[in-house]
Formats: sequence, structure tokens, C-alpha cells
Amino acid sequence: MTTHVKRAYKYRFYPTDAQAAELSRTFGCVRKVYNLALQARTEAWVLRQERIHYNATSAMLTAWKKTEELAYLGDVSSVPLQQALRHLQTAFTHFFGKRAKYPRFKSKRKSRKSAEYTTSAFRFRDGKLTLAKMAEPLDIVWSRPLPEGAQPSTVTVSRDAAGRWFVSMLVEDQTVKPLSAAAGAVVGVDAGLDHLLTLSTGEKVANPRHERRDRARLARAQRELSRKVKGSANRAKARLKVARIHTRIADRRRDGLHKLTTRLVRENQTIVIEDLTVRNLLKNGRLARAISDASWTELRSMLEYKDQWYGREVIAVDRWFPSSKLCSNCGTLQSEMPLHVRTWTCDCGTTHDRDVNAAKNLLAAGLAVSACGAGVRPQRSTPGGQLAVKQETQRAPAGISRP
Ligand SMILES: [Zn+2]
Repeated sequence: MTTHVKRAYKYRFYPTDAQAAELSRTFGCVRKVYNLALQARTEAWVLRQERIHYNATSAMLTAWKKTEELAYLGDVSSVPLQQALRHLQTAFTHFFGKRAKYPRFKSKRKSRKSAEYTTSAFRFRDGKLTLAKMAEPLDIVWSRPLPEGAQPSTVTVSRDAAGRWFVSMLVEDQTVKPLSAAAGAVVGVDAGLDHLLTLSTGEKVANPRHERRDRARLARAQRELSRKVKGSANRAKARLKVARIHTRIADRRRDGLHKLTTRLVRENQTIVIEDLTVRNLLKNGRLARAISDASWTELRSMLEYKDQWYGREVIAVDRWFPSSKLCSNCGTLQSEMPLHVRTWTCDCGTTHDRDVNAAKNLLAAGLAVSACGAGVRPQRSTPGGQLAVKQETQRAPAGISRP
């Protein structure tokens, strides 16, 4: 069995002044179009209970370009603007499917600056990438080679808060083959408080060591920023410094998460995780911090696309499943389990490490679903009430559509 997966290859590049100006203009137009379409969709829904879809917003874009006020939208490549409308469509689909919050307006300062080009809007020839409306190819730093003969289907250009330019290319990659089933190995993974992850095997994966030091640096830079006079050159410099530390933390963390998730999918055929939502965790400040540090969401999305590359299965168990309160040995449910309790002994005589016990319970719950086959949502009753578990293997790989 071979799978055809699309894989994103991201590189840094150095634009010429003209390219930087063209791209900045494009980012601005992408943001404008996204916001206009979001406004139109919101008004239609609030005022007339009408749902507007991609095609209607695409027609609006054509009309906007004909107005004097928005004529400048016609100066940049139309493809990234169309893609912005498609992204908005996806955001609404997730919203109506109750997988995401209502789409938000893109802000000039805070939102990611990016533009997505499909094949009609770029040329990739002899290892040179040229975007629409540009005479010169991009000066890309090829930190790793594209696969032999690869032809990108989508190219996304972005600029991070530290001012660095990146280009991400989505290419079909036939070199990744599913690994042989890791002897049916299965693992439950619990998001920890003191640890990044706890596995049902009893292994604990620590939070990255550099994180604490980087955070101290970040706090210092933020204090310096707050002391600078608004609008001053020093303030701009201080803001850039804060942004650089942020991106370094994110880069290092992502690096660690890649190594970890690759190891998990290599070693296991089935991985069961908890379907945590960040919103739920924000109720507890300390836990929220631990989770944001640990980037649970990012880790999960990596697991979910890597499982497709390697022919593995990731199962997410609903977050209200009482994994901490349930004894993994005898199935008795404790009435409460405050966060400070790290080890406890059940009436059956088993002493549990809180996190290892939770991971074991997740694994058992996930395997119960797995046995029922893919695409089902079985219900099972437990001493604590109904337990719903949903199968996640059919979902599109999240990390790929958003490189
Ligand atoms: Zn017990």
C-alpha cells in the first residue's frame, strides 16, 4: 500500500525591494478581501438569516474591483484574493461543523501576513520559483531539497512578526511509505501538567528545558518594550526584539514536537489522545500556561497528519471522559480528583501515578472504539455516565492545508 500525501516544504527567502513591496501590497489586499467578505457574510446572516457561499463572495470581489475605492485590489494577483475567500469558506465550514469559533477579522498588526498562490499564479522551472506580477524569481535558501521531480501545487508566501520572509511549497510526495505495522503497538498519550506528555507505558516526556530561559528573556524584553515611548524608534526596535524571541520559542518548540511526534508514529500503530480544547483549559490558569507551553494543539495536528504519512491511526477521546478519576485497574470511579493530587491509591489496592493512569484509561477507551471500526461513534456507559468517543482517522490532515 502506498499513499499519496502532500507535504509542505518551507524555506526562507530574501525578496528584492520590488518583490517585498508587491508582496506587502498583496498581503494588505488579502486581508481587505477576507474582512470584506466576512462582513458581507455576517450581515447576510444577522440581518436576513442568509448563508453566503464562496461563489457569491467571488462575484462580490469582481464587483469591488470595479469601484473607485477598491480598484487597487485589481493591482495584485487575483489568485491570493480568491484563496482568501476559499479560506474564509473553510473557516465557516468548521464553524458550522462546530469545530471552530466564528471567523474573526484579520488585524493589520496581529494576523499572519500571508498569500497563497495556486498553479496559475506561479511558475516553477529549473528550480526557480517566480510568482505572478513578478519579473524575477524568488531568492530562496534551499535548506533542504525538494523531492526529485516535485512540482508544487500551492505556494504560500508569508512574513513573520520578526520580519522574516518564508515560502512554503505543497508538493505531492511519493517517497513516504507507510511503515510496517509496529507490531500492533498502541499507546495512550495524556497532556501533562508537570510534564509535556505522559504515555500509558509509564514514560514521561519533559517540557523542553530551554523554554523557561526563553520565557525569562521574553518577559525582560516585554518589560523593556513597555518602558519605551509610544511611536519612538526605540519602541519599534524593542517590539522587533520581542517578536524575535517569540519566533525563536515557537521554532524550537516546533522542532521538538516534530521529533517527538515522528517517534510516536514510528513506534506505534495506534495512538490515543485526549480531545482537549483550549477553551476548556483556560478555566485553570496554571494548566492553561502548561498547555500553551506544550502546544498541545500543534502536537495533535502533527500526529494527525503524520499518521496518514505512515499509515497509522490517531484516535481522539472526548475531553470530558473522566480519565483522571477512573482506576485503570478495576474501573472504579473516584468522586473527585483535584489537580494537586499526583499519586493516589484505589480501593483495589493499586497505587496510581495520576498522569500514567489517565494515559492508560485513554488507551483503553480508544481501543474500544478502534475495535468497532472506523467512522463510527459508539456510545458506552461507564460508572460515570455516558462515554462518547469519536474516530478521527477520516479527517483531512490539518497540518497540511495550513503549512
Ligand atoms: Zn482500582
